[in-house]
Amino acid sequence: MISTFTLFHSFIFFLYLLISTPSRASLFSGIETGDLEKKGDLFPQILRDEAVARLHELGKVSDASEYLERTFLSPATTRAIDLIRKWMEDAGLRTWVDEMGNVHGRVEGANANTEALLIGSHMDTVIDAGKFDGALGIVSAISALKVMHVNGNLQNLRRPVEVIAFCDEEGVRFQTTFLGSGAIAGILSATTLEIPDKKNVTIKDVLKENSIEATEESLLKLKYDPKSVWGYVELHIEQGPVLEQVGFPLGVVKGIAGQTRLKVTVKGSQGHAGTVPMSMRQDPMVAAAEQIVLMENLCKHPEEYLSYGGHCSDSSTKSLSSSLVCTVGEISTWPSASNVIPGQVTYTVDIRAIDDLGREAVIYDLSNRIYQICDKRSVSCLIEHKHDAGAVICDSELSSQLKSAAYSALKRMEDDIQDEVPILMSGAGHDAMAMSRLTKVAMLFVRCRGGISHSPQEDVLDNDIWAAGLATLSFLENL
Ligand SMILES: [Zn+2]
Repeated sequence: MISTFTLFHSFIFFLYLLISTPSRASLFSGIETGDLEKKGDLFPQILRDEAVARLHELGKVSDASEYLERTFLSPATTRAIDLIRKWMEDAGLRTWVDEMGNVHGRVEGANANTEALLIGSHMDTVIDAGKFDGALGIVSAISALKVMHVNGNLQNLRRPVEVIAFCDEEGVRFQTTFLGSGAIAGILSATTLEIPDKKNVTIKDVLKENSIEATEESLLKLKYDPKSVWGYVELHIEQGPVLEQVGFPLGVVKGIAGQTRLKVTVKGSQGHAGTVPMSMRQDPMVAAAEQIVLMENLCKHPEEYLSYGGHCSDSSTKSLSSSLVCTVGEISTWPSASNVIPGQVTYTVDIRAIDDLGREAVIYDLSNRIYQICDKRSVSCLIEHKHDAGAVICDSELSSQLKSAAYSALKRMEDDIQDEVPILMSGAGHDAMAMSRLTKVAMLFVRCRGGISHSPQEDVLDNDIWAAGLATLSFLENL
């Protein structure tokens, strides 16, 4: 059960950070890299130089020639799997690819029978993606383990450590998120394999193309026994501007906002753009346009819309006012011609909020209003729930271990570090959401330039990549 109060409180703290901390230069901006390298053994060759080179190399593994695109088990993903597997083996890990296309690299450490730490992120990307989303979490974990391997410490790990590069977090091809982590957590439905892409190729077909014969039973077998797992840790770029604002390279994640994806289909009467009088039209395009503008108003001012309906408590409404975000990112029309009144318009709605009950109230209210607009305009509407994920609160103990690791890494890089490691909420979904259904989870965010993500402009300072690797190393050394 997620405490609304805790969530709201953390969000206020998060806003406090935004408002109260004066923007200052990068924590490492005043230090020459040469000075850092003189400061003891911080493994810059592996944790920074090689990690940066690997991120750029993986960033070139794409299905498109002009931009980065790597979707679930595409040809580029198959090449990425080989590359990641090679890096895992280079770090002394035993590797395999499971029946959903996740790559695993594991070391047993000193106590093979103890519960394992799982650590990872996703290797798939959006279309025209940045190089760091997902990839940074995979590369940092491998780099930190490589340092231990090179120093002969891998066998001293107090528990087994398994790095997992998940196959599908963005859900670009099948509109399904968490195919990889969902399989490991055992939360996929039995019909998952039958989900088709836009060309009617199913997940089962794609797996078969990659020589993976998956069945309902084999899918169920991918679920890890919760008793064999100690926890899951994910390092990820922030994808937001807070860390840059407060001038800190790393931050600990308190929780991840819940999210819902809807698909709205509006059907009207297809006709000739020149001959059907305006008064006689049943145009699904303008109905969709009205619905989208209404959605924006509702999500900007939920307190005005929801307070009348009585479906939302005061605390939920307050929490929504500061965290609710709604987006229509995809729209398609049929037959999509300039001289035809469309017969059908389909669009997606992505709704996120820290408060689950509040999010449900928004969906309830929005759905009613969408149907009202359809009635008013004499078109038909269908609203389908494509994805629902509740908000996730990170484990406090695991988070405080991550926080100490981040602090000690930054301390090793810069002696006079005073600030507390920031604590923030995540508006973006992550594999940690699915993994929270299996085990306790914690996340570390890494500063990214301008808070930009899902864009080729996505960027992370080399020294921040180093800090991320060093924090992961410190965490692993103190498991
Ligand atoms: Zn991501």
